[in-house]
Amino acid sequence: MLKRIDLGRNYRNHKEEYLKAIREVCEETAFSGGKYADRFEEEFAAYIGVKAASGVDNGTSALQLAMLALGIGEGDEVIVPANTYIATAWGPTYTGATPVFADCTADTWQIDPASVRNRITERTKAIIGVHLYGQPFAYREVREIADRHGLYLVEDCAQSHSARYEGQMTGSLGDLGCFSFYPGKNLYAFGEGGCVTSNRREYIDYINILKNQGCEVRYCHDVVGYNMRMEGIQGAVLSVSLKYLDQWTRRRREIGWRYLREIQNPLFGMQAHPENTEPVFHLFVMTVPEPEDFLKYMEGIGIECHRHYPIPCHLQKAYAHLGYGKGDCPNAEYLAEHCVTLPLFPEMTEEEEDLVIRACNSYNH
Ligand SMILES: *Cc1c(COP(=O)(O)O)cnc(C)c1O
Repeated sequence: MLKRIDLGRNYRNHKEEYLKAIREVCEETAFSGGKYADRFEEEFAAYIGVKAASGVDNGTSALQLAMLALGIGEGDEVIVPANTYIATAWGPTYTGATPVFADCTADTWQIDPASVRNRITERTKAIIGVHLYGQPFAYREVREIADRHGLYLVEDCAQSHSARYEGQMTGSLGDLGCFSFYPGKNLYAFGEGGCVTSNRREYIDYINILKNQGCEVRYCHDVVGYNMRMEGIQGAVLSVSLKYLDQWTRRRREIGWRYLREIQNPLFGMQAHPENTEPVFHLFVMTVPEPEDFLKYMEGIGIECHRHYPIPCHLQKAYAHLGYGKGDCPNAEYLAEHCVTLPLFPEMTEEEEDLVIRACNSYNH
């Protein structure tokens, strides 16, 4: 069975290097925060091209801390796309703010600037744009709206490590960038991890206090804090992986563009990738008339596929109290009903790519 993603291959490719890095952390007992987490923060900030980065315990915390750094809380509204992983909406929700769901475009499947404009009220404080599936959203258009209304713009980069928009790395564009290093993301920890990036050092300084129990000077707590530090072992593992990220990204792009060229089947709908963006194909998502039927067909050939994501955020039960219904975000709803995700990861072999392409092209249910 070809898995949708096979993390074991990378581990086996670089096993000695990873184990050496983990052993070093153990020898130095730099387990929570500390030297190896700090070193990764510096490397990652340099890689993304921002002034500062703060390593945290996961991507959801990164989003929550970004909201807190911007002073967002009860009574505020934050516009987020309906077509995203639910954690994008948890960030504002945890602070007491209300997520307001915007639709995605029919072609790029990213947050739709026109829908964002329609969702703005007097309470709107920020917009979180998501570079979903590794495809940068229309940053400039959304930035213009944010600037006109005096709103913050935060990037959810959980799926877009090393993707570029007009030549610039995602995570360096908005007021803050939020990354996840959950296993399976383009850059991932051996456990949980996340990071907040920014060109405004004061945001990162404040996040460093918040994530460390609200503490700058030991045992002095000037603000209510959280325990959201990055683990040392994760920092060490991430430093090893960061060296390979460009190589992995090249492979992802090769496979992604090849799928787009060679999968030719009128039953499928493909995502648009605007010229001014350099996507990283975190997930290769396409639409099919009957996803469950397609998944079964692929499984029969020995190919595991998934669906990202079968329920759009605005129709999740957790947000039923907000009163959204079917028809509020029609493009996101269409995607939820028709999306399928093909296998795509850097260590796939050419034969496996062939297998996926052939299977897709022969599908005719
Ligand atoms: C994975 C993901 C998150 C959450 O990251 P965790 O590290 O799992 O908490 C947030 N947003 C998006 C778009 C994601 O894909």
